This record gives sequence, C-alpha cells and structure tokens, in this order.
Amino acid sequence: MPGRWSHLYNTPRWRRLRASHLHAHPCCVMCMEQGNVCEATIVDHRRPHQGNLRLFFDPDNLQSLCKPHHDSTKQWEEHRGMEAGCDDSGNPVDPNHPWNRARIDP
Ligand SMILES: [Zn+2]
Repeated sequence: MPGRWSHLYNTPRWRRLRASHLHAHPCCVMCMEQGNVCEATIVDHRRPHQGNLRLFFDPDNLQSLCKPHHDSTKQWEEHRGMEAGCDDSGNPVDPNHPWNRARIDP
C-alpha cells in the first residue's frame, strides 16, 4: 500500500469503509470481467485520490481487486501518471486502462 497516504489508510474511517466494501463486493471486479471469480483482498480507488478526501472516502470511487490486478493498476498510475497516454479527447488510449474502466460518462 502507498506510503504517501498511509495517514489516510490508517484512519478508522477508512478501515470501516474498506471492510464494508469488501463485505459487499468480495470478488475482484477485473477478474469478474474476465469471467473469473477470485477473492478480492484490496479496495482500490477507481479514480486516483491524490490525497483528495472526497475521492478517498467516496464509496462510489471504490472497487475490489485481487493483488495481481491491483498491482497492475498501480503500475499504470505510477508509470503513466494522470495525463500521459491520452488521445486528443483526453481519454487514455488503452481500453483496459483503469481510467477507462472507472470512467463514468454522463
Ligand atoms: Zn483480479
């Protein structure tokens, strides 16, 4: 888990939120999309919160992931950043990019 925001992950509020999310969504969402069922162990932020408390504690911004999927998601964020790898309209070019998965169009 990230060291930068460990003060947020250590809060009772987050622990409660994480536990209730895993209880309600016990399966990794990416595995389910691939037709697999696997137990999620990590609650991930669909949109990177970057320390934003509203995003961090937003139940709608959470998804359950298994560790392999979480790690690949994190690698996208760390290597690509928020703006890199986007097309002219500002969408990430890779359809499997977590930003596209997390995207909620009006
Ligand atoms: Zn998975």
